[in-house]
Amino acid sequence: MKDQILTKFRSLFGKEGQLYMSSGRINLIGEHTDYNGGYVFPGAINFGIMAAIEPNGTNKARVFSLDFNDYVEFGFTEEDKPEQHWPRYIFGVCMETLKRGGKVQGFDAVFAGNVPLGAGLSSSAALESVFAYAINEINGNGIEKFELAKIGQSTEHNYCGVKCGIMDQFASLFGKEGSLIRLDCKTGEYKYFPFHPKGYKLVLLDTCVKHLLADSAYNKRRESCERAAAAIRANHPEVEFLSDAKRLWLDEVRDQISQEDFIRAEYVIGEVQRVLDVCDALERGDYETVGEMMYQTHFGLSRLYEVSCEELDFLNKLARKCEVTGSRVMGGGFGGCTINLVKNELYESFINKAVQEFTLKFGHAPKIYNVVISDGARKL
Ligand code: ADP
Ligand code: MG
Repeated sequence: MKDQILTKFRSLFGKEGQLYMSSGRINLIGEHTDYNGGYVFPGAINFGIMAAIEPNGTNKARVFSLDFNDYVEFGFTEEDKPEQHWPRYIFGVCMETLKRGGKVQGFDAVFAGNVPLGAGLSSSAALESVFAYAINEINGNGIEKFELAKIGQSTEHNYCGVKCGIMDQFASLFGKEGSLIRLDCKTGEYKYFPFHPKGYKLVLLDTCVKHLLADSAYNKRRESCERAAAAIRANHPEVEFLSDAKRLWLDEVRDQISQEDFIRAEYVIGEVQRVLDVCDALERGDYETVGEMMYQTHFGLSRLYEVSCEELDFLNKLARKCEVTGSRVMGGGFGGCTINLVKNELYESFINKAVQEFTLKFGHAPKIYNVVISDGARKL
């Protein structure tokens, strides 16, 4: 990838380019907790986007995407918004940098990546982050990394029509090899935890399905959480978000909220606690407990929060049968990947079984991504 990028940069622009890199991400545990003010627990991975970038002395960006074999030029006013989809991520990063008082001089860039698109590993955050990071460097803007993450998030909101949280861009920028990062979505505080699963592999199985319910179901889940939080707040005014509530406080309002809102809230409050339990387990190097928590999260997402689907439950059940240490749906649900923590000696038989049995049942094979927790945005 590196040589291809540099060669293309040379042939297009007749000079050498400086390389930058950023990564996709996984989230080990902490699902549907972000909008409840709780924790998420992501890490950057060994799939990323690499870009060669140099100032070009003009007031235009000239950018080539190797993967799409497509070239665009754009200036830095709202009227310059590119027609195509992929350059909007880069254009957005430029505009959001300007909005924050940063300088954006014209630049040349060639980039490529290996984060699977739309698989839940956040290729879009990798793309935003590598450009946010590089543009900050070449212009000497000195914008701090958390603000660079917000530049990526605002790019999605304002230029790509995706109302995402901060986790993906945060993980892509702050990721560190061998560490997961617990991010408090309410305060923005974060802490690194060691993740060295010696003797285990971390593997994602992509169902390659996306059920259409996802958007409306997501909004309904948020509303349930807000109603439950409001009921609890009446007794405990300190509860700003549902994640602030103790389990006991939920029980107090059991008769005041619907059964549905109750089980949704039960999941969220349990999940916030599980993130903390996983962090404790990691500090002890106890990966068996980590795995057990992942199964509990899957159970919660499937039976209480009800955002799983047949394909995901099938893979989760199969993981249990194959004695995989931990397995759960990763991401919003209704499709996408399961994330699995599996002992090296069980890996091959698990993957073979999963591919065989899933294909038999659903008519297509799941995709397999072996991930390693790696560094996030950086200059190479
Ligand atoms: P994801 O879950 O992977 O973030 P998104 O739909 O949010 O999926 O983002 C995918 C979009 O990001 C693609 O449609 C494309 O516009 C852009 N993108 C991601 N990776 C690349 C790449 N390697 N080259 C060009 N554009 C990319
Ligand atoms: Mg995305």
